[in-house]
Amino acid sequence: RGDNKVPVVKLNDGKEIPGFGFGTWLGFGKRAWTDNPSDDAVQKSVEWAIDAGYRHIDTAYIYFIEDQVGRAIENKIKQGVVKREDLFVTSKLWNTFHAKEAVVPAIKDSLKKLKLDYLDLYLIHWPVAQHANESLADIDYLETWQGMIEALNQGLTRSIGLSNFNEKQIERVISNSNVKPAALQVEINLNLQQPSLLSYCKNQQIAVVGYTPFGALFPHRAPADAPPPRVDDAALVEIAHKHKKTVPQIVLRYIMDLGVIPIPKSLTKSRIEENFQVFDFSLTDQERATLRTFDKSYRIIPVKNWIESPYYPFEK
Ligand code: NDP
Repeated sequence: RGDNKVPVVKLNDGKEIPGFGFGTWLGFGKRAWTDNPSDDAVQKSVEWAIDAGYRHIDTAYIYFIEDQVGRAIENKIKQGVVKREDLFVTSKLWNTFHAKEAVVPAIKDSLKKLKLDYLDLYLIHWPVAQHANESLADIDYLETWQGMIEALNQGLTRSIGLSNFNEKQIERVISNSNVKPAALQVEINLNLQQPSLLSYCKNQQIAVVGYTPFGALFPHRAPADAPPPRVDDAALVEIAHKHKKTVPQIVLRYIMDLGVIPIPKSLTKSRIEENFQVFDFSLTDQERATLRTFDKSYRIIPVKNWIESPYYPFEK
């Protein structure tokens, strides 16, 4: 697939996913088409990413930029840079479409915006269900999973999976259905390395995609209570110098070494290229041991306003 430097990960349904991807979320409260309908920052970033060699693109209905991702993919196919089958495109079902019969129309809406006739991977974005007015809804994700299976059976997506589900919730999906999730997307970064969830997924042959791979590394993104390290941390800088790499590249290499597929986001051409140069060096066991010490089970995206949902996935 596309760039052969990227490791390929086999999914439990027989399909393959590139072991490194590109993120497209603008952040909380940023809705490109409402904030600035002519904005094309995400479109440009996806075009730069494909030019740089990324073949796995992560998006979601709720990012409100699927149309930009669709235009970028269309342009790169037209220009002959890639074919559809070279790309691996993931999107996600939003919380307001958890009723079984709402899932197929929701994926069709995403496909239309993305100008695609199939997705490679469709994920339930959160186990939490909401009404259209954003109040919490009591729809069991087992019902939602049946809708996901219907989307799979209709050929609207090649694989289906989960995002932000905890181990018990994944176990419940597995024991109550005959289609196993192919992938789990969760937050993974230096402060939140999730060793037990990773070993559970490894045993279950569920591929883990790691979101917000930089966590609180960059000061502008770090909440006041976030533990170290920041990007100028002495231990990180020393490891980076030794390998003639940057600190963000060290972090991405480490996340891959955990067996996780990182999906870093950037709107900046030079950073998009920098983040992809992580397949030509290896960390030592000792360096990995240093990086492991930053794991503080600290979550940057707890979404506490859903804490009252019976399906809230995280420790309260
Ligand atoms: P990331 O960890 O990818 O960090 C993005 C931030 O880091 C941006 O501010 C970006 O700046 C900056 N950055 C990127 N590369 C560099 C670099 N080399 N040097 C300096 N700064 C850099 O955060 P995200 O939260 O965006 O996570 C990645 C993706 O994961 C998302 O885009 C989305 O696709 C997915 N995601 C999924 C979630 C889920 O619930 N399933 C939740 C959150 C994210 P700039 O853009 O200005 O260059």
